Amino acid sequence: MKFNTKTIHGGQQHDSSTGAVMPPIYQTTTFAQTSPGQPIGDYEYSRTANPTRTALENALASLENGARGLAFSSGLAATDCLMRGLKAGDEVIAMDDLYGGTYRLFTKIYKDSGIVFHFVDMNDMEKFKSLINENTKLVWVETPTNPMMKLVDIEAIAKITKENKVIFAVDNTFATPYLQNPLDLGADIVMHSATKYLAGHSDVMAGALIMKDEELGKQMHFQQFATGAILGPMDSFLVLRGIKTLHLRMQRHCENGEKIAEFLNNHPKVKTVYYPGLKTNPFHELAKKQMRGFGGMVSFNFVSGKKEDAIDFLEKIKIFTLAESLGGVESLANYSVMMAHASIPEDKRKEIGITDDLVRLSVGIEDAEDLIEDLKRALG
Ligand SMILES: *Cc1c(COP(=O)(O)O)cnc(C)c1O
Repeated sequence: MKFNTKTIHGGQQHDSSTGAVMPPIYQTTTFAQTSPGQPIGDYEYSRTANPTRTALENALASLENGARGLAFSSGLAATDCLMRGLKAGDEVIAMDDLYGGTYRLFTKIYKDSGIVFHFVDMNDMEKFKSLINENTKLVWVETPTNPMMKLVDIEAIAKITKENKVIFAVDNTFATPYLQNPLDLGADIVMHSATKYLAGHSDVMAGALIMKDEELGKQMHFQQFATGAILGPMDSFLVLRGIKTLHLRMQRHCENGEKIAEFLNNHPKVKTVYYPGLKTNPFHELAKKQMRGFGGMVSFNFVSGKKEDAIDFLEKIKIFTLAESLGGVESLANYSVMMAHASIPEDKRKEIGITDDLVRLSVGIEDAEDLIEDLKRALG
């Protein structure tokens, strides 16, 4: 099955009792048994599994070419579940440019429980390799990164994690399976904030883990079942509905993203545009190698380097909305320093390029002409 067909049919079956084309929202906590331990169907209790959630999880596994998908109450809940498999003394190597909430989870929750974290730019392969030792249990990568749009060579990292028997997880939120399939490139686990492109309509919080092999899938399901951060049936239905148009939305996100990156790149007030689709972007060749397009996320800063210019721009936009989040049908703008990345200390932020004049755009699926007009006006 090709990708566009998969978004609609992958892992899906019509409801066996009624033929319903979309799975019913099984708003139930429990399922009847005929004798102790003898449930009527495959289900017992909705923390373990619920049919609406199963339908979504099967779709997720299909989209990412994994053996098992799991749906969580948020992206961070998914990451947290994965982390539950580690113990004090274990070491994690993570990309230095990470979603702020992931960084906060690692440094404020797990570091205190004795897990050791190394944050590095994994484009420095020698540095990365030098950090691996017998305690290394997990390599965590986001590509493209939020908000600097850095890429990491998934295949190259996977080669090393395989040699060293380290679990390799990729946050695929920005690219989505429409553009990139980390499991096919050698990763073991894909994580999604399904709140973003997968659900796609800014109306539901959800997260996902997709495991390449069944064994790891079982382990993660146990960790989820035992800790409880599952996605409810209504929200599972909404994410599944969103996924059915993922390919159409992503196609437009990519088209608009390219147009807007091009426009900003030629604007006299704009200094640098961070978008892998630009030929001048240092990650352009890698993007062409491991992605099927460049996505709808575009960051940029100002020639002036002034915070005031960024704030002024963010106050003037009209079609773009100044708000947290990304990946919905509507265009959003984000001021990383005070919003998504406020949890990263200032010196660390500066080091990775999140300066006072950096703006991140989540380009939606409106008419590109209207979006460009809005940007033109707000840039003055
Ligand atoms: C939003 C986001 C997360 C966290 O997901 P939530 O659904 O907000 O918990 C993780 N990684 C990336 C790249 C994100 O954009």
